Amino acid sequence: MANDLVQQNVSLASLSTWRVGGPAEYFCSPRTIEEVEAALLWSHQHQQRLTVIGGGSNVLISDKGVRGLVLSTRQLAGLDVKEDQGQLRIVAMGGTHKSQLLRIFIQKKLAPALFLSGLPGDVGGGVVMNAGVGEARLPREFGEIVEWVEVVRLHGTKTERVKIPSEQIRWTYRHSEGWQPGVIVRVGLKWPLEPDDEIPIQVRETNRLRLSKQPLDQPSCGSVFVNPSGYKAGAVIDNCGLKGFAIGGAMVSPKHANFIVNTGTATAHDIDAVIKHVQSTVKTLTQVDLKTEVIYLGEWA
Ligand SMILES: Cc1cc2nc3c(=O)[nH]c(=O)nc-3n(C[C@H](O)[C@H](O)[C@H](O)COP(=O)(O)OP(=O)(O)OC[C@H]3O[C@@H](n4cnc5c(N)ncnc54)[C@H](O)[C@@H]3O)c2cc1C
Repeated sequence: MANDLVQQNVSLASLSTWRVGGPAEYFCSPRTIEEVEAALLWSHQHQQRLTVIGGGSNVLISDKGVRGLVLSTRQLAGLDVKEDQGQLRIVAMGGTHKSQLLRIFIQKKLAPALFLSGLPGDVGGGVVMNAGVGEARLPREFGEIVEWVEVVRLHGTKTERVKIPSEQIRWTYRHSEGWQPGVIVRVGLKWPLEPDDEIPIQVRETNRLRLSKQPLDQPSCGSVFVNPSGYKAGAVIDNCGLKGFAIGGAMVSPKHANFIVNTGTATAHDIDAVIKHVQSTVKTLTQVDLKTEVIYLGEWA
């Protein structure tokens, strides 16, 4: 039985940047950490599995939807910015959009603006995915600017808030380990106050490059596959002649082979079918195993 915080049968497609996916059996969108705690207790009391969705820019939600309680962090947003002993310190709620962080780093002319520019999704999702860029620059991913992560999790029949220092988190390529389980509700970030007048100019150039290389006018989840060691997934897929390959409304982007775009009518099933076709073709032609960066949510069996 739902209460004020929890709704039933809520469509999730609009919460995914692919614009696909079925409904959440139960859904909540807490605005405060206390409401996150209440949602976790609700899931425990009603024996419902919890699934978290941030900006939805790295998830493939099944057409059958998601059983249990889906917690969207989109309303759990806000920032606190301080300058302290030569450091810029930001405390961001988990659902704060990365573009808000970007704005601050641009204003202060600080280097993190470069990897954040054009990165979709929320701060919490950025931590989970250790989001960043491939180019060799400092910093180039989330783990390098995070000072601590605050998580709310179930502890027996109660909830607890745990603050985990960045050093206790293992930051690897598009993954972070050591903060689980739980919901990331707050993130502390820091970077030295060493302004560089070139940063805003370089951000504009980064945006221009993204626009020229990526199909940003069509719904997608960015890069679908992680780069296999020693290769660029996009180049491998392109070399297999898969650009433009389509099933239903899902297509390997002719502009960037590691993007699968929704041409208007895609279902999650179409996207999954394209993913599987790309994986099997690449394996047959090159022996390379492509693993998805995108995370599957919901019922796929
Ligand atoms: C056009 C485009 C370009 C992109 N370019 C890049 C790029 O250059 N580099 C890059 O790294 N990524 C890129 N991405 C992928 C994506 O934007 C990042 O992975 C992003 O950090 C995901 O954040 P999100 O908030 O959307 O997470 P979601 O997609 O909502 O979730 C990702 C995972 O994190 C979990 N999660 C989310 N929030 C929380 C939370 N608060 N607590 C616990 N778990 C949580 C979810 O359950 C899920 O498992 C791109 C995507 C698009 C659409």
